[in-house]
Amino acid sequence: MCRLARIAAVLVLVLAGAPVLADDALEARVAEIEQLGISAHWRESDRKLDDLAPRLDELTPEQRARVEFVRLRNLGLAGREPAALQGFSRLLQQAEMPAALRVRAYTTAISIAANVEDWPRAFGWLSEGLEYLPDAPESAPALLGAASYLHTLVGEIGKARDLARQALDAVEATGDARGRCLALADLAMAEDHAGNYSEAEGWRRRQIDACQAAGDRVFVANAKYGIGKMVAAQGRPAEALDWSRQALAEFEAAGFAAGSWSARLELAGNLIALDRELDRAESMLLETLEYYRGQNTELAVAETERLLARLAEQRDDDVGALTHLRRAMDAQEIAERESRERRLAYLQVEFDTQLKEQQIALLEAEKELAALQVTATQRRQWLLGMGMFGLLVTALLLLLLLRHSSRERGRYRHQSERDGLTGLFNYQQVRKRGGDAFRRARQDGRPFTAVIADIDLFKQVNDRHGHAAGDEALRSLGGWISGIVGAGAIAGRSGGDEFTILLQGTAADAEALLQRLRERMEPITVFGQTFSFNFSAGVCQYDGSTTTLEQLIHNADQALYRAKHGGRDRVVCARGAGQPEAGPSGSLVVVGSGIQFGRHTSERTLSEIREAERVLCLVDPFALGMIHGFRPDAVNLGVHYAPGKDRRETYREIEAAIMAEVEAGRQVCAVFYGHPGVFADVPHAVVRRTRALGLPARMEPGISAEACLYADLGLDPGLRGVQSLEATHFMIHDREPDTAALVLLWQVTLAGDLSCTRLHAEPEGLQALVDKLLRWYPADHEVVLYEAAQLPIDAPRIDRLALADLPAAHYEEYTTLVIPALRVPRRVQAGA
Ligand code: GH3
Ligand code: MG
Repeated sequence: MCRLARIAAVLVLVLAGAPVLADDALEARVAEIEQLGISAHWRESDRKLDDLAPRLDELTPEQRARVEFVRLRNLGLAGREPAALQGFSRLLQQAEMPAALRVRAYTTAISIAANVEDWPRAFGWLSEGLEYLPDAPESAPALLGAASYLHTLVGEIGKARDLARQALDAVEATGDARGRCLALADLAMAEDHAGNYSEAEGWRRRQIDACQAAGDRVFVANAKYGIGKMVAAQGRPAEALDWSRQALAEFEAAGFAAGSWSARLELAGNLIALDRELDRAESMLLETLEYYRGQNTELAVAETERLLARLAEQRDDDVGALTHLRRAMDAQEIAERESRERRLAYLQVEFDTQLKEQQIALLEAEKELAALQVTATQRRQWLLGMGMFGLLVTALLLLLLLRHSSRERGRYRHQSERDGLTGLFNYQQVRKRGGDAFRRARQDGRPFTAVIADIDLFKQVNDRHGHAAGDEALRSLGGWISGIVGAGAIAGRSGGDEFTILLQGTAADAEALLQRLRERMEPITVFGQTFSFNFSAGVCQYDGSTTTLEQLIHNADQALYRAKHGGRDRVVCARGAGQPEAGPSGSLVVVGSGIQFGRHTSERTLSEIREAERVLCLVDPFALGMIHGFRPDAVNLGVHYAPGKDRRETYREIEAAIMAEVEAGRQVCAVFYGHPGVFADVPHAVVRRTRALGLPARMEPGISAEACLYADLGLDPGLRGVQSLEATHFMIHDREPDTAALVLLWQVTLAGDLSCTRLHAEPEGLQALVDKLLRWYPADHEVVLYEAAQLPIDAPRIDRLALADLPAAHYEEYTTLVIPALRVPRRVQAGA
């Protein structure tokens, strides 16, 4: 469009001048200047103007205006458009000027303003100029032509067409051939812009005749160029090629450079459309592009780039095509912005104010929107950037937190799974991991072996070298063990000085491993004391008979027991380790249920009860109920008691029942009330008898009534010593109480009963006991009748009374007499 603007602007400029009559010498000079100004010799008019300069004051205001008009138009032609426009601004404000001259001045000023794309001025002057038309009909066609041209540029095709028609009508009336040629060109351009190609073609054909008649080669060429364009648009490229060739030749002959470049562009486009002389088309396009770039006519640049893109496409150069298309889009964008500016300038002078204001607002809004879009895009990018940054920082923090927490988790897990002293697994982990490994080994039919190792006489290490040395020994052994076991083994400290190793291998592998451990062990030095220690171990290999890891470990534990009893510092393989053992295979463990089973039983006792083949119990009904909860097959030895039955007989039966199970080759667990070895013959007897058979037997300690007594009464047996006797034994044997110590008399209820059948207290027996005690103690000596609480909800019995009142007191089977010390022990005199 800019390209067209320039062609038209130059044409309008050339044609704008018309002679004004003069009647004196000065008038003649003024007229001469005007005449030269509109001819091809306009530079000559400049010289004449210089000559006239000293006499300007003599001119009438009208004459001055006429010569000033020529001077300003010459400035425009000479390419000094800004100066020309400034001059026209001043000139057009002058009051004294004939209407015809004023309209011509407007027409020229509009052309120059359009030429430099000063659209506000162009449209402003058009608006003003149109008001003078009724007074200057002879100058109307030129201004109407300029008006039509400007309206075409802003897309007001309807108005452009009307104005061009008005111009045509005006020139038809005056018979002005050149005016007709121009008016037809304007009409053709309006239709061309409206996209009415065939109408435009028709007007162009009429334009050729009219312009040839007017002798205007430039506008003849312009018409041919226009026809070529319309024919091409209607899909007749061969015909279009011919017209564009003619147009180029005409423009060149007329020496009209701007037209020549337009025609070249059209010619190149037609060649490309016909796929002919592509190299020529390319060189023409490149030259044209250079020219238009120099001129800053973006629409033409866009069109040239588009043709170059099409050419590249035809040559299968996709990359080139894309580059040209991108450049075309950039140029198009600039051209559209310029078009918006033109339209804005037009609207600012439009008469229909309401519509104008709306349209202006619309355009302003469009402009603002574009600006806002830029700001919004920048803001969005900024926000996006900030968001990304925030996300990055958050992700980084999360990553750090995750790393920290996973490290912490790892540390806590490690701590919760390990024994603090040795760093080996703790008891729970050995069981947990071992259980899984044992199950897998059983499923896969692979060998699996449990080893229990225990330091020999470790108490002595503590006693001789101190607890810290004992700790160091445990730590060292832990280190040596982890040094010899591979990845396939699980090693842990099961408690105290006992270690468990579970390995995927045979008993022989375990023995080899223990041998390596022995070789690795060396004396350790703590606080300057060097000592060494040994260990004993029990080994048991899974052989299909054991179904749980607990059983396997239990078997290994029993083998350890035999190793200890066999003299320590040795390894013993258990039954089930693939090594047949000589002799009978029974075993016995005697455990105590404590006074309150639920509170006093140790883990070990529970484990023994669970793992034994046969369980026999002599416990209170509550304890029996609890044991039946997990060992329903446990035998109640209490059934051997009967009222009036000799207790010795009962004891014999119980002993026999236990031994029968042991001798049958079973692993037996016998559970006794309290501590199994305190005030009970049977437990000691069965342990003795089992050992006599060459079978393993041991007793696990339990909490006795005596232990409860010390706790409940707050007495320390270590303070002055304690004398603990069975009441009847005290009565019938020659026993004297140690009056400086604490004296405990058990089974006081049965005092004096030699029949071993009675279970209740009898005043005579109690009186006999009191009588014996009165030999050492005064009758009012305060004694205590004590009964430990058997249930967690019970309280212990602690009745304080005078010694002499004992026969009248109330007694249970298990009442104990506590006699506090009578005197302070005397120190042995030195030398005495
Ligand atoms: P045996 O050969 O029969 O095993 O004799 P022993 O003296 O080693 O007897 P036992 O295994 O029953 O004794 C274990 C001792 O280990 C009891 C306790 O004083 C000691 N002990 C248990 N835990 C620790 C500990 O963490 N540090 C130290 N220094 N001693 C401990
Ligand atoms: Mg030990």
